[in-house]
This record gives sequence, C-alpha cells and structure tokens, in this order.
Amino acid sequence: MLIVQKFGGSSVATLERIRNVAQRVLATQRTGQDVVVVVSAMAGETNRLIGLSNQLASEGDVTLTSKGPYVASERAGDRAHERELDQLVSTGENVSAALLAMAIQNAGGRSISLVGHQIGLQTDATYTNARILGFSHGRIRQELSAGNVVVCAGFQGLNAAGNITTLGRGGSDTSAVALAAALKADVCEILTDVDGVYTTDPRIEPRARKIHRITYEEMLELASLGAKVLQIRSVEFAMKFGVPVHVRSSLNESEGTWIVSEQKSLESAVVTGVALDRNEAKVTLTNVPDVPGTIASIFGVLAGADIIVDMIIQNASRGGSTDVTFTVPENDLKKAVAGLRSLDLPGAGPMEILSDPDICKISIVGVGMRTHAGVASKAFEILGRENINIQMVSTSEIKVSVIVHERYGELALRALHAGFGLHEGPASSAA
Ligand code: ADP
Ligand code: ASP
Ligand code: MG
Repeated sequence: MLIVQKFGGSSVATLERIRNVAQRVLATQRTGQDVVVVVSAMAGETNRLIGLSNQLASEGDVTLTSKGPYVASERAGDRAHERELDQLVSTGENVSAALLAMAIQNAGGRSISLVGHQIGLQTDATYTNARILGFSHGRIRQELSAGNVVVCAGFQGLNAAGNITTLGRGGSDTSAVALAAALKADVCEILTDVDGVYTTDPRIEPRARKIHRITYEEMLELASLGAKVLQIRSVEFAMKFGVPVHVRSSLNESEGTWIVSEQKSLESAVVTGVALDRNEAKVTLTNVPDVPGTIASIFGVLAGADIIVDMIIQNASRGGSTDVTFTVPENDLKKAVAGLRSLDLPGAGPMEILSDPDICKISIVGVGMRTHAGVASKAFEILGRENINIQMVSTSEIKVSVIVHERYGELALRALHAGFGLHEGPASSAA
C-alpha cells in the first residue's frame, strides 16, 4: 500500500504544526503503508517572496496575485525575469520539506526530503505556470525501500534546459496528484484547513454543507470557477489517471470528501455547489465592424498576448457594426486593453474600448443539470428577487455562470446557495 499525503501552507505554517504533521505521517506509516508526503511553503511565504520581487520591479502597477501566473503584467513574457521568479518562489517549499523531514527524524522516524530536480520532476518550458511532463520514480522508490517517509517539495519542477519552474498558485496539489498517479498510489490525501469540499466556500457561507462524494467533473468545474480548495490541474490529473482523491482536514481524523468517477458518486443533486471568482474583468468593444474575420482579429490579439478569454457575447448587428463583450483575468486587463488599442481593424469607425474590473462571476455546478430543465431560470429568478443585475450569462451541460457587480458577489452566492437548498440542515424552501 502506498499513500501520498499533501499538506498545504496552513498545515505547515509553524514549527508546532510541522511537529503535528510529523506525528500524523508516522502514524500513517505505522499502519504498514509507504508514505510519500508533498508539502507547500509555510503559509504566507509564497506571497512574501512574490512581494519582494514586486518591490524590486519598476514602479507602476505591479500586482500581487493570488492565482498563477504571478508576474507583474508588464514583465509577463520576460523570460529572464520569470526564470528568477521561479528560482525565488520555489525556495518556500524547500524550507518546509526539509523542516518536516527533520521533525520526522526528531520524532524517531526515518525521513528524507527531496526537491523537484532530485525526483526528476520534468515540466514544460513555461515559467510560473508550468505543466508536469513526467518524473523518474527511481529515487523515491529507493528511499521508500530504505524505510523513509519521503517528503517532496511541491509546486516545483525542472524544464528541459535544467531550470527550475513552478506550477502556478496552488500547484502543490498538482504535484501530489501527479506523484500519486505515477507511483500508482492507492490514494492521494489532500490535507488542508477545511475538512472537505463544501457546497460553497465555508468562509463566505458558514451554512455550507460538506459534500461526501463529488465527481471529478463537478470538482473540475468548481475548481475552474473559483473554488480554490484544489488547483484545477490536480483535478485534471486525478480524472485522467483515475486517482482517488480524499480532501480532509490536517487537524483531525474525520472523513473528508472523496473525489470519484460519476458511477461511484452517490449524491446526484441537481446543484452540487456554488463558486465565486473575483478574479475576472469585463471588456466591451463598441462599434465593431460586422464583417468576417473581425472577431478572429480581436481574439487573435488576446491569444497572442497569452490572455485566456472566458465568456464572450456578441450582440446583433445594427447598421453594419456590433458590440462585443468578454471577460479576461483581472490581472491581464491592462495587457488586454493595450493589445486591443493597437488593433487596426479594416473599415472600423471609432471603436470604443470600455473596461470594468469591478465584476465577479458566480457559478452553480451539478451533474444533475443534464437531466433537469429550468435550473438557469430558477437561478435568474433568485437573483432577480435580490435585485441583483445580471451582466452576462454562460452555461454548459453542468454549470450556469453569471457575471454581476463585484459588490453583489457574496450576496448572490448566499442567495443561490439557499435557493437551491444547499444550506446545512433541512432543505431550504427559499425558492
Ligand atoms: P492549502 O493551503 O491547504 O492548499 P487553500 O487555501 O489552497 O489550502 O484551500 C483551502 C481553502 O479553500 C479553504 O480554506 C476555503 O476557504 C477555500 N474554499 C473555496 N471553496 C471551497 C469549497 N467549495 N469547499 C471547501 N473549501 C473551499
Ligand atoms: N506555495 C504555493 C502557493 O502558495 C503552492 C501551493 O501552496 O500549493 O501557491
Ligand atoms: Mg491550495
């Protein structure tokens, strides 16, 4: 039996907590399992390091982002700078890995810490947001055979040129699931500061309910729509390789949330969860010529600048021109507007570019939506009753997302959470 246990930043925030993690890991090993641990940096450390780099960067709008990539926008794409940023931020995980290995040794166990290059964790070339390509098992297997708890530094790898890369904010989740997949671990435990995945962020809605089982697909949607409890790519890996993931508390032994394939999921609620993403901004282009190729030019500019566009709306044409509205990550807003200003559309009148960072996206997710009509209309009704104006809508088979003013984000989240009967306790009758 082999288990991968990943401890997030809050779980290794102090020496006291690191000692507790050491005890927990040793207790797991005593049950006869081989244990590979993946650690994040101590809470706040990654932000501190990014902050130092930002202080050095030129004056102007340098942003500290809570999601990767985390490069001041005007330096994004500056590979020399991004290389150093990854050298810098990867150190946080080295510290916690070594401290945990020492704590395990002090508690009488055998342990060794290994950083990305020591486990041959290969990534693509993208600094600050790299993708894992593979890793060599040899060293980890050898250390496990010697009776060690192997503590790996999460979040980091090595590109083909031998430089350190990092995996985007929250990337230790992905390190852990990828190691679990490659080592064919029986389970990947994500030990964090909540005791599972909830119907929404329990920090925003204390009446959120713990979900006992959730499908990979639903978790993927929730993670990509703003629920930062797991990094999106970790869920992609888990789904692709069928890794059983158990999200649970690092502070107690209670059963958490199992992320499983659809056949194994027991709960088939229409709406499983609600997520809030504050990290989007809206751009509207007015007076866009309604001719073939225009939209391709607009989104070509954004793609060329590596900007990921989320929702897109094009209005019906009036008098040969139209309006186009779309959302981009808030950190990319300046870059997007600058790129669009440089756009030279043939035959265009004065195209106006309006940008609005004060928006957020609320999404409801559930595989049950596939077989239930009227979910979107019920969501609109709930928001209408709260007097919340909907600026944009997008739907897929298993989700409905709306853009609203940032000010109403939490209110909208709570209203939808109650309206779809997700509150703890007897089902709500609010809708
Ligand atoms: P770690 O440092 O262990 O990686 P994170 O801070 O990245 O932990 O993720 C845990 C946090 O995710 C929780 O404290 C919680 O506020 C937030 N979160 C957001 N959405 C959810 C959700 N649906 N269920 C549980 N936690 C959520
Ligand atoms: N330390 C990194 C971060 O803060 C990676 C992680 O915690 O998963 O984003
Ligand atoms: Mg995390």
